[in-house]
Parts: sequence; structure tokens; C-alpha cells
Amino acid sequence: MPVLVMKFGGTSVATLDRIRRAAKRVGVEVAKGYDVIVIVSAMSGKTNELVGWVNETSAMYDAREYDAVVSSGENVTAGLMALTLQEMDVPARSWQGWQVPVQTTSTHAAARIEAIPPENIMAKFADGMRVAVVAGFQGVSPEGRITTLGRGGSDTTAVAFAAAFEAERCDIYTDVDGVYTTDPRVEAKARKLDKISFEEMLELASLGAKVLQTRSVELAMRYKVKLRVLSSFEEQSDDAGTLVCDEEEIMESNVVAGVAFSRDEAKMTLVSVADRPGIAAAIFGALSEGGVNVDMIVQNIAEEGRTDMTWSCPVDQVKRADVAMKKAAKDGVINYDELIADEGVAKVSVVGIGMRSHTGVAAKMFKVLSDEGVNIKVITTSEIKISVLIDRKYMELAVQALHDAFELDKAG
Ligand code: ADP
Ligand code: ASP
Ligand code: MG
Repeated sequence: MPVLVMKFGGTSVATLDRIRRAAKRVGVEVAKGYDVIVIVSAMSGKTNELVGWVNETSAMYDAREYDAVVSSGENVTAGLMALTLQEMDVPARSWQGWQVPVQTTSTHAAARIEAIPPENIMAKFADGMRVAVVAGFQGVSPEGRITTLGRGGSDTTAVAFAAAFEAERCDIYTDVDGVYTTDPRVEAKARKLDKISFEEMLELASLGAKVLQTRSVELAMRYKVKLRVLSSFEEQSDDAGTLVCDEEEIMESNVVAGVAFSRDEAKMTLVSVADRPGIAAAIFGALSEGGVNVDMIVQNIAEEGRTDMTWSCPVDQVKRADVAMKKAAKDGVINYDELIADEGVAKVSVVGIGMRSHTGVAAKMFKVLSDEGVNIKVITTSEIKISVLIDRKYMELAVQALHDAFELDKAG
């Protein structure tokens, strides 16, 4: 029988009622003749609560135990979903990551899926089971320990299962009815896209649009998974939601497809380091070793053989960066005057494959921000995106102004 993957995010399984609702949607697809793999998230808020408990217990926690704790939310919803389906006379069974097994690397809290042998679940399908309910977000390391895939990781579980089982489609059910030109919570005029290219979705996701985890889009692109985002709250037709697909399948589009933002960023400046070959390698090597995810980088103009180095990173990694730089200085790898942290910045980005052939997008973006009196602190660009770092208090304003200026409320 053809296989379908259906993933339900946290808000879609937040209560027993919502689980019932989601199970009904699953029942509809089973009735059409699909064997269904359902991937569930933890109930909304649960993972945050678990992460909070870990942090409260141990500030410099052991990541293996972090994973043991934070993976547990999904176990609950998987069991409840299987029970709900059984109550509806749909033969269903729950699976935790290690039972499948979802084999991952041992990078705890940010593991990558290496393989999903389909045999165990396939054997159950052959036996008459119609729905395998799999706990998202989790797997098992080569050492046999539970791992998690990073926040939002259930999306990646879903796409990886779709690839491993050659599913006809991977449907991501969430609390919005598709991918929008920007987060509809920030811009009410945001418009739902019927289709978006893998490349654009990949950029939007990695620049902060949390509707899909970045890695899930990467996998879908690589394995040609038919990926759809749709609402679990509304009755859905077969062409509802947003299809993430190859750019060739999209007939018309705007130069800018969407605006993404990332609220909790920090800008750090290492003041007065030697301007010599190898200095960037020394600084960013030490930051990487210290577990800091550096995003943007600017090296300022040197004066008398000294220069300042600026980077951005998630605001909750400022402390780690400080520790890493102090250690590097102590080890004699670098020397510097001081490390300044600006913890009140956000990143706003415009994304669109149309930028490959259209000039002037950057100039327009900067003009719009200047007209709003928003100062740009750092800029980075790539072929299909432009990102700026600005004061966090102007983030919403900037997103709305850019959405307006690029007329994203109108179809291209
Ligand atoms: P789930 O719990 O179902 O995984 P998430 O909260 O992870 O849901 O992702 C859905 C949320 O993503 C939406 O509620 C929305 O606020 C946010 N979002 C951010 N950018 C976008 C976008 N461009 N399109 C749609 N939703 C977006
Ligand atoms: N529950 C996990 C999280 O909140 C995984 C997910 O929902 O995708 O990050
Ligand atoms: Mg999510």
C-alpha cells in the first residue's frame, strides 16, 4: 500500500481533544488506502518546560541527560495518539525513536539522522497495522543513548521517514495553514503562498522562520520528498496548504519571496586584536570549540596593526563566547583589550530567488529601513538573501515596512 507521512506539531496535539481531531484526519487517509506514519511532537509548551527543568537542575548540563529528559514529551503524545486511533478502530502502534530505530550521530541535542531501517515498521504494516505513530525529535546514537535533533526537530523526523519509506507525500500539520510571506503573527497582511521553492524555504527556515526546521527542508530537497505544510485546525482539501517544491514547478513569483527574522541575537565585538594572518582562524576556531554558533562576521579596518572583530550569535551564547575568548587569551592564542556584547539586536532578512537576476533589492531594503529611522549594524548577503542586524525594538517595524515595500501582500 502507498505510504503517507503526517506530522502533527505541538499545538496540533496540545490537548486530548486536539489529538482526537488529528486522529480523525489520519483516519481519513487510512480510509483512502494509505498506510500512514504519523510523527508527533510533544504537547505545546512541554519541551520548553522540560528544557527549563534541565537548566534549573544543572547549568552546565550533561547533554546526554538533557536528551533523556527533553525527548520524553514526544513519548507521551505518541502513546496517546496510538490509543486514540485504536479507540477509532484503526490498527495503530506507537514507536519511540530507538525502537524503529532512528539511527543518529551522537551529537547530543543536535543529532543528525543517519539511517532509518524500515524493516520493523514495514513488517507491522504487512501484519495489518495501518498506522505507525512515531515520536518525533528523537533517535538513538551508535552508543545506544537517546538523542534529540534540535528544537523543531520533529519536522526533520517526518521528512526523514518520508524519504526512508518512499512516502507519496509528507504533510506537516501545524497551527497556520501554510507558509506565508512572513510570520503572520508579526505582519497581519502576510500572504499564504501556494508554492515555495526548496531554496527559498531553506533560507527562510535558516534565517528564523520556524514553520519548518532547516534540516527538514535540506532533506526534502536532497531526497525529492513532496513536502506540504497545512493547518490541522481546518478541513483540508487535497491541494490545501503550501507545497515546497523545485523552483521549476513555480510559474510566477515575486523577486522577494518572504521576510524572515530572528529575534534573539547578540552582536559581539572583540576590541583590538592583532591584525595578522591566522587571527580569524584563531578567534573563530576558539568560538567553535566553545560551542558558539557564529553567524555574521565583520572585520573592521585595521589601525597600527590592531583591528576589531565583530560577529553575531544567539543571545544565549554570549556567556559561552566570553568564556571561549578568555580561555583563548589565557592559552596565548589571541590577545585583546575587551569583548563588548550588544544583547539587544535582531536579524531581519529578505529572501528570493528572483534576486539572482534582479539588482537593486539591497539598495531598496536599506532605503526602506533608513526611511523608518532604523540603523543597520551589520549586513550580510548571499545569492538569494540579504540580512541586516538591527536593534531588537525595531524588528516588527522593519519586517512590516519591508513587507509593504516589496508588496508581498500581492501575488507576483
Ligand atoms: P509546530 O508546533 O506545529 O511545529 P511551530 O510553532 O514550530 O509549529 O511553527 C509554526 C509557526 O511558525 C507559526 O505559528 C508561525 O508563527 C511561525 N512562522 C514563522 N514564519 C512563518 C512563515 N513564513 N509562514 C508561516 N508561519 C511562520
Ligand atoms: N518538541 C520539540 C520542540 O519543541 C520538537 C518539535 O516540536 O518539533 O523543539
Ligand atoms: Mg515546529
